[in-house]
Amino acid sequence: EYQEPTDGEPPVGITYDDVGGLGDTVDQVREMIELPLKHPELFSRLGIDPPKGVLLYGPPGTGKTLLARAVANETNAHFSVINGPEIMGRYYGESEERLRSVFEEASQNAPAIIFIDELDSIAPARDETGEAERRVVAQLLTLLDGLEARGNVVVIGATNRPDAIDEALRRPGRFDREIVIGVPDTAGRREIIGIHTRGMPLAEGVDLEELARTTYGFVGADLGALAREAAISALRRILPDIDLDEDEIPADVLDELVVRDGDFRD
Ligand code: ATP
Repeated sequence: EYQEPTDGEPPVGITYDDVGGLGDTVDQVREMIELPLKHPELFSRLGIDPPKGVLLYGPPGTGKTLLARAVANETNAHFSVINGPEIMGRYYGESEERLRSVFEEASQNAPAIIFIDELDSIAPARDETGEAERRVVAQLLTLLDGLEARGNVVVIGATNRPDAIDEALRRPGRFDREIVIGVPDTAGRREIIGIHTRGMPLAEGVDLEELARTTYGFVGADLGALAREAAISALRRILPDIDLDEDEIPADVLDELVVRDGDFRD
């Protein structure tokens, strides 16, 4: 069951099992984000600073947000989301104020993860920058540098444009780790379709392997939508048998409600 988290609470219910087709990437994420959040003492024993900032690169809909939520949930970390475009559309000074308050709240509630979606819209490469962006980048740099290197607050920035981010943000001690979240291959799509259909009553003849083979170019968000559409199409089929004036759906009608192969193909 996916549930939209509210700001600051660990995202309910989302685990690594909900993230498909990313293979080793999940291990990278665990090593770079989960490890320092859970065991900062490993880093202090080695005398090195744990990572503070990690960039997730990848096309839209590949699971960057999902992954960040899964890590937060699995580590029981406080989770805040900052949406790049949303934060930039504010009055003078408000964007910085919002950044400050998110960082402050995270520090007070550590271990914490701050997820900045569409980081490139907050911190575009210098030559694309206007006055507002310059101020917000400066604020973000100050906040990142001000985070104590204790490993208990990790900032994850997501973008689909690797080169579109201000270089200053990628220096050591800032967003100095990068993880690529790619478009899934056939095996990856098979895994993701499995996740999105695991709660569905599938009719015999539904061939998820075949579906994975024939959805070249689909990312996780597309496959999730495909599964939902298929379910709705199954629902539509039994709609004529449903009498809305009755309190209960008869068992035989409910039994009829299965998702067929054709539902995925309409
Ligand atoms: P954007 O850059 O547009 O924010 P994103 O990479 O953050 O995209 P998500 O928001 O995580 O993508 O994905 C949207 C939805 O698509 C998820 O909530 C999930 O239902 C589905 N999805 C995406 N990627 C995956 C995946 N790898 N495994 C399972 N489901 C996925």
